[in-house]
Amino acid sequence: MPVSQPTIGNAQFKLLEKLCNACAVSGDEGEVRKIVLEEVKPYADEVKVDALGNVLATKKGSGRNRPRVMLDAHMDEVGFILVADEGDGLYRFETVGGIDLRHLPGKPILVGKEHLTGVIGAKPIHLASEEELKRKPSLDSLRIDLGPSGKAKPGDWATFATKFKRIGPSIMSKAIDDRIGVATLIELVKHAPPNIDVLAAFTVQEEVGLRGAKVAAYAFDPDLAIAIDATPAYDMPKYDGSENAVYNTKLGLGPAIYIYNSSTIDDPRLVRFLKETAETEGIPYQIRQPGGGGTDAGAIQRTRAGIPAVSVSVPHRYSHSPIIIARVDDWKNSLKLLHSALSRISPKLVSSQ
Ligand SMILES: [Zn+2]
Repeated sequence: MPVSQPTIGNAQFKLLEKLCNACAVSGDEGEVRKIVLEEVKPYADEVKVDALGNVLATKKGSGRNRPRVMLDAHMDEVGFILVADEGDGLYRFETVGGIDLRHLPGKPILVGKEHLTGVIGAKPIHLASEEELKRKPSLDSLRIDLGPSGKAKPGDWATFATKFKRIGPSIMSKAIDDRIGVATLIELVKHAPPNIDVLAAFTVQEEVGLRGAKVAAYAFDPDLAIAIDATPAYDMPKYDGSENAVYNTKLGLGPAIYIYNSSTIDDPRLVRFLKETAETEGIPYQIRQPGGGGTDAGAIQRTRAGIPAVSVSVPHRYSHSPIIIARVDDWKNSLKLLHSALSRISPKLVSSQ
């Protein structure tokens, strides 16, 4: 039976839009989980939701000696949690995941299950001292403001309110990290090649320390794993107009294959395999340059007696900010690379060092 090739067309953009506009801060992934369950249930052989909230979907192949391949994408996004009600619609809050406080003053947000509209308030420029303007704002100088009729409570989550947009070759959203990975993984479950068993983990709590992936990898006990994520690009030209040579990825150069970062030294056999697949198939790719930030591969790799793992990411600008930008072609090429690679996996791939 020929393997059906996944493509990215109107249906996939619509699904990505729905995933990106859902609010799912770490620990509160329910809205994304619901969409994932609807999408994968008709295609998977088995679907479970574990105690932390990970969705674990298994799609068995049909050949002999099928490697068990875990594919991971995290459902959560960075955001906020309300911690104290100060009355009059004002709330103190904590950040959830890595957020640069410089992004926050004046940003519209959505709060709680009902997506109440609010704003992050700060001292106005007219009243701020020169010293205050030089520093980034402290968390305790900021408030979430819903107005006096806004009824939220401590423990409610909040996200940036930006809506998904597709503009020319780009897509923009608050949550491309990692709904683009979730959308990719859904397509891979729908078009799973028969030479492997696909063990799809849609994980929780990546942004607060790769927590869901750890238990998902334990449950699946796979032969190898690929984390599908979005990775920061810092590829703008320098102020003097010269080329920025210190980028960690660049938009438009294709999927970023990780080799080394703060959470993982990616399995060299899997790195080589992905590069060979891309070169044979003529798919553009880039090697992610050193920098901060890890992926679920770091947690998966250190589960049980060790699991060979690698990360493939779609590059994006303005990570963990109210609006992230990525290129459609990088998404398409990431899906193509991953599907081609899965179709070529043989039991020998990780049988020896
Ligand atoms: Zn991510």
